[in-house]
Amino acid sequence: MKNARPLPSYLVQRYHGWKATTHAENKAWYRRLAEEGQRPRAMIISCCDSRIHVTSIFGADEGEFFIHRNIAGLVPPCAPDGDHHGTSAAVEYAVTVLKVANLLVVGHSNCGGVRGCHDMCAGLAPQLEEKTSFIGRWMDLLRPSYERQAGIADEAERLRAMEKEAVLVSIENLMTFPFVKAAVEAESLTLHGLWNDIGEGAVECYDPESGRFLPV
Ligand SMILES: [Zn+2]
Repeated sequence: MKNARPLPSYLVQRYHGWKATTHAENKAWYRRLAEEGQRPRAMIISCCDSRIHVTSIFGADEGEFFIHRNIAGLVPPCAPDGDHHGTSAAVEYAVTVLKVANLLVVGHSNCGGVRGCHDMCAGLAPQLEEKTSFIGRWMDLLRPSYERQAGIADEAERLRAMEKEAVLVSIENLMTFPFVKAAVEAESLTLHGLWNDIGEGAVECYDPESGRFLPV
């Protein structure tokens, strides 16, 4: 196994800094986390984007959120075909084993995944149409949204509409998993759709009454 190498020095230094401060000051708490196992109240599904920091936004500590991240923070529909489904596996574990009470899907501004889908559908990114493009095939999940938002003339507004619709598509897809549907109907699980504006630090939550995302 020669392809797994030692850490770069900046990460080694940062680790030792954390161990000597944060960990040293909270040793008993970390030990309790290890012994008692995790009991997170919420699952978060968000984009891989390095600028999205849900634990900071909600001031969460270790053990509080069960987090899954992927390109654009999408949830695919339930497809029990025996293939590899990382996102579906994370949702299954959170809902059936951890029994989280809240599941948050978090979209964001300036999302590269959504931009990729937009450009692919607009014919500007032919490489994403290749069968071998994992990103393109993943972003196919959002393809119908491009058609629905194509009437918005301003590109920035169109992208923003697609970013928000991605959250709703994911929530719709979540409901195709029988264990999610059952938990929602039993009122032991609630789903939430959020959108985070990176520059403004704003968080908007989908409001089913008005059918719009409103500031939190
Ligand atoms: Zn993103």
